[in-house]
Amino acid sequence: MRFAFSLLPGFALASSILSAAEPAATVPAAPAAVPALPPPELTEIWTPVPPVVSAPANGLPSDAIVLFNGKNLDAWESVKGGPAPWILEGGNLVVTPKSGYIQSKAAFGDSQVHLEFRTPAEVKGDSQGRGNSGVFLMGLYEVQILDSYKNPTYVNGQAGSVYKQHIPLVNASRPPGEWQSYDIVFVAPRFGPTGVVDTPARVTVFHNGVLVLHDVEIKGATTYRGYPAYAPHAAKLPLQLQDHSNPLAFRNIWVRELALPRLR
Ligand code: MG
Repeated sequence: MRFAFSLLPGFALASSILSAAEPAATVPAAPAAVPALPPPELTEIWTPVPPVVSAPANGLPSDAIVLFNGKNLDAWESVKGGPAPWILEGGNLVVTPKSGYIQSKAAFGDSQVHLEFRTPAEVKGDSQGRGNSGVFLMGLYEVQILDSYKNPTYVNGQAGSVYKQHIPLVNASRPPGEWQSYDIVFVAPRFGPTGVVDTPARVTVFHNGVLVLHDVEIKGATTYRGYPAYAPHAAKLPLQLQDHSNPLAFRNIWVRELALPRLR
């Protein structure tokens, strides 16, 4: 009977206290040794020293590659070949509807991308037909640009989405006709020796300074119909801007090339 009760925690504790009666110690116990604190230098790393990038107020980082600064379209070309068919208007890069996508002459892989866009002040169309463009990372992976200010559409196709793959966390859109910004951190996909994707692409997007996508995995080239899939490609490819037949304007487009380690 006693054995059975001793299996209960409460009973076992009481039993332990009752049986622990021992004579009080007459000699004070020596104080326990205080463990030595680790020296702060143990966790200090001094090299290699990160490179200096100046980041002036109201300016762009010193290591940014400028793709458009209001002066010319020299950094761009038509995806069909030849000069970029969009126009320079008031220091802005404006889509010529139905002229086709444009792409940077330079190619990029892992990168930080900044661009500013303005959807038409005069609202025409709705859903995907209203203020539609897009920034195609590596020419394949679209972060949607859309006038998503009080403009219902499928949510994985609204502004700040990875088109038909990832829904933005919030809708940070400004009204039509106002300048807006995207700041994008893109990690290019890595392909194994057989051409199968080894590490999918990932992207983080801030829309007007508001986080809308946090390190999401891109499932393959974005596509209007069907499901996305990867096909092997070069480590660096041009950045494309979409002509979706709406006359959006762009300004202040720059890229910082990143050399990120393989994530896993
Ligand atoms: Mg688009």
